[in-house]
Amino acid sequence: MSYFEYRGDTLYVEGLPLDQIANQVGTPTYVYSRAALTQNFRAYADACRAHGRGESGAIVCYSVKSNSNLAVLNLLGQLGSGFDIVSGGELLRVLAAGGDPRKVIFSGVGKSEEEIKLALSHDILCFNVESIPELHRLSAIASSMGRQARVSLRVNPDVDPKTHPYISTGLKDNKFGIAFEDALETYRIAHSLPHIEVTGIDCHIGSQLLDDAPLLEALDKVIELVDQLQSMGIALHHLDIGGGIGITYDNEKPVAVADYLARLFKRIDHWRAEKYDGAPISVMFEPGRSIVGNAGVLLTRVEYLKHGATKNFAVVDAAMNDLMRPAMYEAWHGVQSVNRRDATAMSYDVVGPVCESGDWLARNRQLTLAPGDLLAIMSAGAYGMTMASNYNTRGRAAEVLVDGSRFSVIRRRENPKDLFALESIVE
Ligand SMILES: *Cc1c(COP(=O)(O)O)cnc(C)c1O
Repeated sequence: MSYFEYRGDTLYVEGLPLDQIANQVGTPTYVYSRAALTQNFRAYADACRAHGRGESGAIVCYSVKSNSNLAVLNLLGQLGSGFDIVSGGELLRVLAAGGDPRKVIFSGVGKSEEEIKLALSHDILCFNVESIPELHRLSAIASSMGRQARVSLRVNPDVDPKTHPYISTGLKDNKFGIAFEDALETYRIAHSLPHIEVTGIDCHIGSQLLDDAPLLEALDKVIELVDQLQSMGIALHHLDIGGGIGITYDNEKPVAVADYLARLFKRIDHWRAEKYDGAPISVMFEPGRSIVGNAGVLLTRVEYLKHGATKNFAVVDAAMNDLMRPAMYEAWHGVQSVNRRDATAMSYDVVGPVCESGDWLARNRQLTLAPGDLLAIMSAGAYGMTMASNYNTRGRAAEVLVDGSRFSVIRRRENPKDLFALESIVE
């Protein structure tokens, strides 16, 4: 169910009218629904449980980069989530939010020495390694610290996820992962390194996938490798199929998480029964967007209406620095009036105040608007605030978490002084 719905002519989040938040906190503001976050996380957790996977049989490692607010991480951690991080900074966030480092996996192509040291010192669950030089670096650092690094190799299954090229990661010519044909040799090297403990295999083929067929195809290729590794004497304890399930922005119909997981577990169970006498293998997921995307909106206020020769513009107080996705991927976000009014709609481009032609949030939308109106940019919970910048010396938006008819500010709005506090003038 959606937790963003009209009651009469007012858009609510859970039991709270969105205009109440705007009036108290100002705009632009990201608003997240605790109930929606919980529901989306439970779709994964419940499906794992329904297929006989307990605490260690399946771990959902929420992808921190999709929305890394401490309150969001804390909530998901309390629900039992692990975390997929891509930087040392994200690890420190997870720890500050009370997350369990033994449920943290570290992905990414460019892990620095400092980041590796930090992660080893917190004894994280696993490093998802993306290259041979990274293996050597990891082994050397683990050796100097007298530790073992648990490792999974991110393989590139060369499966086309049929999504936007910028968010597709599993094809041959991509910077991510280890080429499928190099995987066995890379595992052999990993296995030979003294401070590396090979524990798993992973892949992540892309984002905003509406169909699970490419994910199941990737699973089949990963399974093939696990069998080959087994015959080389390298037994894996887990396989991680990444994130990537899409959400509805407009009228997309993404596969239901429960259906995807049912198909995935069915294949895995069948395979384990056939080849390993039913010996289980732990399964991991790295979902981001499908947990937070539809759990958040960006609230913004109309500053001006500008009626041009061929177009009408609604200039709002949110901009590309707040929500980068339209400018970066030409992404489509729904736009809803927080207070619906009864008048004929006109076509508007919804644009921000930033000095770039790419600064638009939505184009050609039928809206009934007056200056001062509030708009909700829908489905903005994932890759919204985490990709925000301070371009044009604009403070980043406030963030609010709603629970029923109450809300908490979970990140205060940045003020201009925050923005240059780290700078100094040369005497
Ligand atoms: C971004 C990312 C994810 C999350 O992807 P979603 O499409 O948001 O589910 C998972 N794993 C890795 C390695 C990523 O880079």
